[in-house]
Amino acid sequence: MKKVYITDTLTKEKVPLEPVEPGIVKMYVCGPTVYNYIHIGNARPMVVFDAFRRFLEFIGYKVIMVQNFTDIDDKIINEAREWGVDWKTVADTFIAEYFHDAHSLGVRAANFHPRTTDFVDDIVNAVQRIIENGYGYVAANGDVYFSVRKLTDYGKLSGKNPDDLRAGARVDVNELKRDPLDFVLWKSAKPGEPTWDSPWCLGRPGWHIECSVMSQKLLGDMFDIHGGGEDLIFPHHEDEIAQSEALTGKPPAKYWMHNGMIIVRGDKMSKSLGNTFLVREAVKKYGKDGVKLFLLSKHYRSPIEFSDEVLEDNSKAAQRVLAALNRFREKYPYPLVPKEDAEMKELVQRFVEALSDDFNTPVALSIIFDVVRELNKAMDNGDDGRALRMYHLIKRVFGPVLGVFDTESEKKAPTSAVSSNFETLIRSLVEVRNEFRKSKQFDFADRIRNVLAESGIKLYDTPEGTKYEIVEKEEK
Ligand SMILES: [Zn+2]
Repeated sequence: MKKVYITDTLTKEKVPLEPVEPGIVKMYVCGPTVYNYIHIGNARPMVVFDAFRRFLEFIGYKVIMVQNFTDIDDKIINEAREWGVDWKTVADTFIAEYFHDAHSLGVRAANFHPRTTDFVDDIVNAVQRIIENGYGYVAANGDVYFSVRKLTDYGKLSGKNPDDLRAGARVDVNELKRDPLDFVLWKSAKPGEPTWDSPWCLGRPGWHIECSVMSQKLLGDMFDIHGGGEDLIFPHHEDEIAQSEALTGKPPAKYWMHNGMIIVRGDKMSKSLGNTFLVREAVKKYGKDGVKLFLLSKHYRSPIEFSDEVLEDNSKAAQRVLAALNRFREKYPYPLVPKEDAEMKELVQRFVEALSDDFNTPVALSIIFDVVRELNKAMDNGDDGRALRMYHLIKRVFGPVLGVFDTESEKKAPTSAVSSNFETLIRSLVEVRNEFRKSKQFDFADRIRNVLAESGIKLYDTPEGTKYEIVEKEEK
C-alpha cells in the first residue's frame, strides 16, 4: 500500500501514517455543538476529513470514522430558552440540519455520530476513575475539576508552557479551582438547567471529557488519527490528552491532524464574532463544487482568506470543469470504461503522490485542471479515445476521491439500447464466422463459436442460415 505522510501536530513533523492495526485507519474528528446552522468555517474540517477518508479508501485502507455531536452545552440551553422549548428539541433540529448541509456538500456520514448525552453513564465512570487515579478533585459545589499540575508535560500538543499560561491567566474568579489551568470534568447545574445524576451533584459533563470517552468507547484506547480545526488544539485537545493519560497512561491517538481556519478580514470565522457565512447560502450562491474547490484549494493546514471574489473564482473554475464533462457527455451519453494506458497511469500516480504527501489537495486539483484542458483539447481534435480516458479520470477517479464533480450521476444506457447493441454484436460475429467458413478457415470459425458458447450463446447452422439461442450457463 502507498505510504502516506501527514503532519502530526504533536511531534510537529511530517511522519508516515502507520496505523495501529495494519490496513485500518481509525479516525475521530470533533464535530459541531448543535445550536445553529453550520457555516463555512465548520464545513472545512468536514470537507477536509471526508476527502482524506475517501483518499485512504481509494488507496486501499479501510477507514472507521467517528464524528461527535455536542448536544448539551450553554449555547444550546440558551437557544432553547429563547425558543421556549427543551434543549433536546434544539439539538435534534440542528443535527438534522447538519446532515442536510453535509449532504448538500457531498460529505458522507461518518460510521458513528455519537451524541454526548447518550454517553453520560460512561462519562460519569471516566470522571470517577480520573478522581480515583488522583487526577481529579471535587469542589465545594459538586463540580469536578481536572488537576493540571499532576501532569508534568501538560501543554505538549499546543506547545504552551503551563507557567506562561498561569502568568497570562486573568485573576480567576472561580475560587473552586485549585489552579487557574484546571478544567471542569463535571459541572453542577444552575437552577432550571437540564441535569443528569452523578455521585457528586446533579449536573452535566464538561466539554472535553465527552470526546475522550466517546472516542475510547468507539475506537479503543489508542486509535490512529484525532482530527479537527486548529482552534481545538488548545484547550480542547490538550485536555483530551490530559484526560486519556489520567485514564490509560497514554494519549488517545497516534497522530493529530488539524486544519487551518477560515479568515474573514483578519479574524477567524466564528459565530461569536458574527462574521459567518452559512453553508446553505454558500452552496446556493456558488454551487456545491465551487464551495468544495474553495475549501480544498489551499493546503489543509493553511488558513484560507474568505471573500466573495475568491468563492466566485472557485465557482467559475468548477463551472469550467462541469462544462467540459457535459460537452463530452453530449457526444457520448453512455461512456464506457477505457483501457488504462501509460498516460492515465502516470496521471493517477501523480495524483496519489500529491495526496500521499501530507494530503496536498492544491496539487491534486491542479492535476485535475490539467486533465480538463487535455479533455477539451482531445475533443477539439476529434481524438475520442483520449477524450474518453480524460473524462474517465476526472469523473470516475479523481472527482470521487476528492468528492467533487460527482453530483450528476452517470446514466446507465437504457436496456433497449444494450440489448439492440448486443444483438448487433452477435450478428456481426456470426457474419465473421461465416466468412471464415467460406474461406475454409475452420479454426477461426470454431473459435468464434466456442467463445460465444462460453458466454451462453449457442449457434445452430440451418439451411436458412445461422441462428442463435441464449442459454442459461450451467452453475458449477
Ligand atoms: Zn472534541
